[in-house]
Amino acid sequence: MKIGVPKEIKNNESRVGMTPAGVFELTKNNHTVYVQTDAGFGSGFFNKDYEEAGAIILNSIEDVYAASDMIVKVKEPIEEEYTLIKPDQVVFTYFHFASSETLTRAMINSKSICIAYETVEEKDGSLPLLVPMSEVAGRMSIQQGAKYLEKPIKGRGVLLGGVPGVPPGKVLVLGAGIVGMQAAKMAAGLGAHVTIMDINMKQLRYVNDVMPNHVVTEFSSEYNIRKRIKEADLIIGGVLIKGAKAPKLITKDMLKDMRPGTVIVDVAVDQGGCFETTKATTHENPTYIIDDVVHYCVANMPGAVPYTSTVALTNVTLPYVLRLANQGWVKACETDTTLSKGLNIVKGRVVYKEIAEAFNWET
Ligand code: NAD
Repeated sequence: MKIGVPKEIKNNESRVGMTPAGVFELTKNNHTVYVQTDAGFGSGFFNKDYEEAGAIILNSIEDVYAASDMIVKVKEPIEEEYTLIKPDQVVFTYFHFASSETLTRAMINSKSICIAYETVEEKDGSLPLLVPMSEVAGRMSIQQGAKYLEKPIKGRGVLLGGVPGVPPGKVLVLGAGIVGMQAAKMAAGLGAHVTIMDINMKQLRYVNDVMPNHVVTEFSSEYNIRKRIKEADLIIGGVLIKGAKAPKLITKDMLKDMRPGTVIVDVAVDQGGCFETTKATTHENPTYIIDDVVHYCVANMPGAVPYTSTVALTNVTLPYVLRLANQGWVKACETDTTLSKGLNIVKGRVVYKEIAEAFNWET
C-alpha cells in the first residue's frame, strides 16, 4: 500500500502522524511511505531520518495526498485539506466529528474512509488511542503546576518537594483515571504530599495498592473537596464522565476558601472543565487569575511536548496502521473489532451513530 504522512497545518500543531520507526516497519512490510518535506521537523525528526528509514520525501502536501492510498496524520483535516482527500482514500487520524458539522459534511463529500483515533475502542470500553495523550497531560500537569506555584508568576511561592526542615507542598488530584494516576505519580516523585479523589472505589483501592504511602486516597464528595482545598497548594482536575460534560467539582464560591497563590490545573478543560471558573487557554497565554487563584486551563497540553507526544501516539497507532496496510481496511476492520469501532464515515455514509445524533440527522 502507498501511505502518506502530510505535515500538520493546523495552528500550533507540531506533532506528526508517523515517526521514522513507523516508516521503517512499513517499508519492511513492502509498503511505500511518502512523507511531506519537514513533516517531522516540529517533533525533532528530520527528512534524512525518514529517508534512512525508507521513506520517499515529497515536496508538497498536494503530492502526498495525490500519491497515497492511506493518509496517517494527527489532527482532523482543515479546510485547505478537504479537497485533497480522494474517494476511497483511507484517512486515519483524530477527527472529533461531533464538534464540527462542516468537517463532517466535507468528509462525507470526499467519499473517503475516515477512521477516527478517538473512537477506536477495546471491548472493555477503553480508548487505546486516547490514553497516551492523557498520560502526557497528567504528567505535564504537575510540571506546569510546580512552575506556576513560583512567586514571580503569582503562585504561592511553594517548592512542591519542600527541603529538609520544610514540609513538602500539598497536591489534590480530582479523578484517579489516566490523567489523575500520572499526575499523582509525578507529584509523589517530587516528594509532594498527594491526596487523590475519585467516586470509583475499585479504582481507589487500586491506587492505594500501587502508590507510595504519601499518596492518600479519599472518596470524592463535596464535603471532602471543600475540606482539602483549604490546605492544597496545587489542585489537578482530571475527572471524566464519558460522553458528558465534566462535573463542576469546584465552584466559584469555593475559590475564596483557597489560599492566595494556589494553582489549579484543569486538564478536563476539553470537556468543559471541572472548575466553575475554567475557561480554555493556550500555550501562548496559559494562565489567568480569579480571586488570587492561578488557573491553568490549556486545552491541548500535549502540543507543548511534541516529541514525547508524537512518539507516544505513534507507539499505539502503528499496530493499526500496519494492519490496515497489510490487510486493507475492509479485512482489517472485519477481523479487528477494536479497530472497526474507529470507522466513522465510509464512502459518503456516516457509520458511527453518535455523529448523526450530534447533528440530529436521521440515520
Ligand atoms: P479517565 O476516564 O481515565 O478518568 C476519569 C476519572 O474521573 C475516572 O476514574 C472517574 O471515575 C473519575 N470521576 C468521575 N466523576 C468524578 C467525580 N465526581 N469526582 C472524582 N472523580 C470522578 O479519563 P482521563 O483519560 O484521565 O481524562 C480526564 C480528562 O482529561 C478528560 O476530560 C480528557 O479529555 C482530558 N484530557 C485533556 C487533555 C488536555 O490537553 N487538556 C489531554 C488529555 C486528556
